[in-house]
Amino acid sequence: MILKKTSVTRNSFNNLILPFYNPSFFIPVKGKGSRLWDQEGKEYIDFSGGIAVTSLGHCHPILNEVLNYQSKKIWHTSNIFTNEPALRLAKKLVLSSFASYVFFANSGAEANEAAFKLARYYSTKKYHLKKNQIISFYNSFHGRTLFTVSVGGQSKYSDCFGPKPLGIQHAEFNKIETVKKIINKNTCAIVLELIQGEGGIIPASKSFVKELRLLCDTYNVLLIFDEIQTGIGRTGKLFAYEHYGIKPDILTIAKSLGGGFPISAMLTTSEIQSFIKPGIHGTTYGGNPLACAVAEATIDIINTKDVLSGVKKKLHRIIFELNIINKRFKLFTEIRGIGLLIGIVLEKNFVGKIYDILNAAFIEGVILLVAGNNVIRMAPSLIIKESDIIEGMSRFCCALEKII
Ligand SMILES: *Cc1c(COP(=O)(O)O)cnc(C)c1O
Repeated sequence: MILKKTSVTRNSFNNLILPFYNPSFFIPVKGKGSRLWDQEGKEYIDFSGGIAVTSLGHCHPILNEVLNYQSKKIWHTSNIFTNEPALRLAKKLVLSSFASYVFFANSGAEANEAAFKLARYYSTKKYHLKKNQIISFYNSFHGRTLFTVSVGGQSKYSDCFGPKPLGIQHAEFNKIETVKKIINKNTCAIVLELIQGEGGIIPASKSFVKELRLLCDTYNVLLIFDEIQTGIGRTGKLFAYEHYGIKPDILTIAKSLGGGFPISAMLTTSEIQSFIKPGIHGTTYGGNPLACAVAEATIDIINTKDVLSGVKKKLHRIIFELNIINKRFKLFTEIRGIGLLIGIVLEKNFVGKIYDILNAAFIEGVILLVAGNNVIRMAPSLIIKESDIIEGMSRFCCALEKII
């Protein structure tokens, strides 16, 4: 049976959906690999990867097969039961990370919410009731629940939603003295993105992360890495912390984990696990069999030498093409990030024009993202074809020609 569909257009968005978003003028209806097609059949090269989510491109044949297979076995049972895909996925995450235990949720914000709650729970149980202060960083992004916008370091996301949760302090990213100034015996956790994503693709320096670890050890503070954007292969390693040689106590992942199917996870150690009892936290959908089956296949494909080492090659090709563009247009001052989380920092005279650039790129058939207010972000599929990179960059070039 085919359900009856009514026709819809971009214009109906304004009459139907709350304007928390302002979607682009076209509606993608089909995707394959790094290409998308809209309602009119126009084709786009996708350098956005669904904001660092579709790391294996659109409709990867193996993910499609796994999703179809699981959809005929079992969809949902709730956490009254456990399920095979969740156990298999947890095993893979534990075997390939610092962690010994996993908690599944559905979105990045929920994984962080769980991480912050857990840090407070553990620290107040283990040490004393006042050990509940969280230190995070200006310009950081940790999600949109009230707790996570409050921990996040951009007030535009939390303004007018108060009263906010208490016990949160912000320090300056990559400035260890500002952390030393506020850390004390009541601090329970320090949380950071190893590369600030929404904030403009700003990597933490190695010495900063190393010193944070030392401070945490000195003050019995938990170190939390929010790898929601950087995890699962995005940087060319399964986790970005592997580039730093520093292990966290708690780590959160989401975006790439499900390759486009909503799922997130919080990973932690046996020490922290030993304080947890049934009932203190939970979620209806966490560990959903469909999501876990797709995530398991996603990790199987990404956590291979081929895909992970391919990230570097693809990055080099992108940088090569971008440098050619820059010779002509003097568009950017710097390319930053690690692996395929790429920030193109615009020259001063383009800063106010970033949305014009993105729009012109849409019109030419290439999809790019923004991060911060002066950075074009790219987070393409980790297995994007070289020919798609070249074609996408040539379309980007045409877009620039039209507006410069
Ligand atoms: C996207 C993101 C989040 C929020 O994830 P949602 O799935 O939107 O809740 C949190 N932290 C970082 C670093 C992110 O990039």
